[in-house]
Amino acid sequence: MADPEPNPQINFDNTEIAFANKSNKELKKTSRLFKLMSNNLLTKLLSSVGLVAVKYNLPFARYAVKQTIYEQFCGGETLLDCQSAIDKLYENNALTILDYGAEGKSTPEEHDEVKDQIIQSVKLAAANNSVPVVVCKLSGMADNGLLERLQESDERTTSDQKDYDKLYERLDEICSIGNELGVGIFIDAEESWMQITIDKLAIEMMSKYNREKVIVYNTYQLYRHDKLAQMKKDYEISQKEGYLFGVKFVRGAYMEKERNRAEEMNYESPIQKDKASTDKDYDEAIKFCVENYKTIGSCCATHNEKSSLYQAELIAQLGIDRTHPHLNFSQLYGMSDQITFNLAAAGYNVGKYVVYGPVKEVIPYLIRRAQENTSVTGEMGRELKFIQTEMKRRKL
Ligand SMILES: Cc1cc2nc3c(=O)[nH]c(=O)nc-3n(C[C@H](O)[C@H](O)[C@H](O)COP(=O)(O)OP(=O)(O)OC[C@H]3O[C@@H](n4cnc5c(N)ncnc54)[C@H](O)[C@@H]3O)c2cc1C
Repeated sequence: MADPEPNPQINFDNTEIAFANKSNKELKKTSRLFKLMSNNLLTKLLSSVGLVAVKYNLPFARYAVKQTIYEQFCGGETLLDCQSAIDKLYENNALTILDYGAEGKSTPEEHDEVKDQIIQSVKLAAANNSVPVVVCKLSGMADNGLLERLQESDERTTSDQKDYDKLYERLDEICSIGNELGVGIFIDAEESWMQITIDKLAIEMMSKYNREKVIVYNTYQLYRHDKLAQMKKDYEISQKEGYLFGVKFVRGAYMEKERNRAEEMNYESPIQKDKASTDKDYDEAIKFCVENYKTIGSCCATHNEKSSLYQAELIAQLGIDRTHPHLNFSQLYGMSDQITFNLAAAGYNVGKYVVYGPVKEVIPYLIRRAQENTSVTGEMGRELKFIQTEMKRRKL
């Protein structure tokens, strides 16, 4: 690759770069899928009926999901299957962040199985220059009720203490292997009623493993009105205690659920009063992390073009090396290729979250993607607009 320009002009409207890795046939197929998902009623129907059909192993349902929405948003059923997605991203200068997509596990055996899967992906990452980080969702490695109870009270029953120790051991094993092999671990953020437990564990792991290099990253959701202040406070503590701070910042995925629960249970919602407040805190988090990049390893995880551009321009303005390992961007596989590949072409560190796992296991993830891309207003979605622009450019 030629040396990137010192101050590149980034243009997210460049669909030629965004879809360079898609053949005409693939582009047409993607367009059909996004058109299908933009139908609100159809998405609702497929989300409910489709889920049940796949759950009960109806062979056609599995095949239909696999050939369409699964192929668009997932890397494959196994780590081995993901290799071609990883290679294709790397050909276009984008890295891969591996994410085992199984959710809602309830038995200790299932939690161990999730941990084993994550460890396998850490090992694959260590052998692959194109995979610097692996994702870890604590709700996949512990009972969600436990995470909630631990947050509600400092008093623990013997059985809860035993389960907490198991969770700690699972997470510690992952982070310790990540540290040994030089692979980063992103700890995802979840619902507020479990997040205090997750934050505590993430910070403990950071303090243990981020002594020389940023290995562990906690996630901060800026749709919460308290999170910018908490991020800054946690950073201060890391500096006092002498470890590097690792942070992935997102807007947050559970807004409706958070608001509904707060209303039902009659407590103040943790969510910002409006979108503008979320955006303001998000961009403030970018500024804080970029300005302190020597001691903070960060990832700007968003599909928002303005925020992505803001971070890119800030790095350029401050004259910081845009390939510095502490400055990263990320989008989900199958979405916002115009951000990923235009940033990658300009020489920034960009990774795609590549979710993998058996079709049946990743259904909740796929439903969230379908709902995100559906049109409630009848307007054409952002992804479909870009695909159609590229199809026009190619005269398809
Ligand atoms: C790589 C990657 C990793 C992610 N990891 C996580 C994770 O660990 N945990 C997690 O929760 N989410 C995660 N997400 C999802 C993320 O939180 C967002 O839901 C999603 O990316 C949409 O937000 P956006 O920044 O892309 O852009 P936008 O489309 O600009 O913003 C939409 C978001 O703004 C916020 N918002 C919308 N309306 C309002 C309102 N009225 N008031 C206040 N806020 C509002 C909501 O958070 C909404 O999702 C991840 C996303 C990516 C790309």
